[in-house]
Amino acid sequence: MQKKTVMDVDVDGKRVLVRTDFNVPMDRNKKIKDDTRLRACLPTITYLIGHRARIILCSHLGRPHGRVDENLRLEPVARRLSELLQRPVKPLREAIGPGVEQVVSGMQEGEVVLLENLRFYQGEEENDPGFTQELSKLADLVVNDAFGVSHRAHASVVGLADYLPCVAGLLMEKEIDQLSRILENPARPFALVIGGAKAGEKIRLLEHIIPHVDLVLIGGGTAATFLKGGGCNVGISAVEPDKMELVMRIMQKARALNVTILLPEDVVVTEKLEATAITLVVSVKQIPANCRIADIGPLTITEYTKELKKCRMVAWNGPMGVFEVPEFSEGTKSIAMVLAGLNATTVIGGGSTAEVVTQLGLSGKMTHVSTGGGAFLQFLSGKILPGIAVLADRNQSSSSIPTLM
Ligand code: ADP
Ligand code: MG
Repeated sequence: MQKKTVMDVDVDGKRVLVRTDFNVPMDRNKKIKDDTRLRACLPTITYLIGHRARIILCSHLGRPHGRVDENLRLEPVARRLSELLQRPVKPLREAIGPGVEQVVSGMQEGEVVLLENLRFYQGEEENDPGFTQELSKLADLVVNDAFGVSHRAHASVVGLADYLPCVAGLLMEKEIDQLSRILENPARPFALVIGGAKAGEKIRLLEHIIPHVDLVLIGGGTAATFLKGGGCNVGISAVEPDKMELVMRIMQKARALNVTILLPEDVVVTEKLEATAITLVVSVKQIPANCRIADIGPLTITEYTKELKKCRMVAWNGPMGVFEVPEFSEGTKSIAMVLAGLNATTVIGGGSTAEVVTQLGLSGKMTHVSTGGGAFLQFLSGKILPGIAVLADRNQSSSSIPTLM
């Protein structure tokens, strides 16, 4: 890798701000449902402990949009992390300010604290210099181990590089190395399976991904906008009205490049996204006006399975349906099982997608399970991720970039 990692710099006794992606799924009792993302950062944290750094962890959790949300405090994360590390991880109730500075200035070597949810501050997502500067006061250097957010130009991901040297953590290094190796020379045919939420964002990335793949299989929330673009009535499914033109452009581009885009033929629909709701399997041409799409249907599963079996390489981000409700999890589970059985390179990305694969015990059957969803897609599109771009280069000696003493 061209970027410096935590192993290339002197961390002994230094205050090290580690940007992690601890955006873990939690149930109503604030119990962490899947701690994969915490475990993934352990190598960097234990390395820093072993090298006597003062470790200041920071992360976002959910989307509190710049306000304190009691349900999104990071305290449960600190507790679980403390169990995994078998040493105290002190949760702080703020991420910046005199109180935090005081705690940090009293830290011992090898001590670990966790700042409060960064997205409780508007400055984080806005990459506000005032917020960034406050954050930068806490540390001597930044280690970015949050591959999952490296596609976002937020204060803790990009902004900090204006004030402090930034290097990659060991998880970040692993993700960049693995994904570069896999995507450098993909085996063909190469399929992308795309689903999940944040359809607008995904559709935008698809435009750039199309030239790199042979086949795109669409499910999840993204399918509704594509189906609507193709003239289907999608009932009360959420669509991205301002992305219709882009959908048309993507379809045209795919045709011109000989890339096949497949949409569901049938879907599971419901009036309410609840386990007790009445569900129907219908053709996409017959979606009732009062229903929404909740999963791909059995015919679609069969068709997608047939196509995937022809592929030598498959990248997958985003569940095919609302998999959290068992009634709508069939599509997602089926795709996971098909990929696990393929004699092909398989790369999975995204919190929810990885969660399903892990729950089914199939992680070991995939070539690589990435901690990033959007970041992974952006990597696939060939675009440089802003959070990776700002990391110090191995051969960097520019005086404009802050360097370590
Ligand atoms: P990942 O975390 O794997 O990157 P996303 O965050 O994009 O995936 O999306 C995950 C979410 O998408 C899940 O909570 C799931 O319920 C939701 N989802 C999947 N299909 C649909 C659908 N048809 N309608 C609404 N939400 C959906
Ligand atoms: Mg997600």
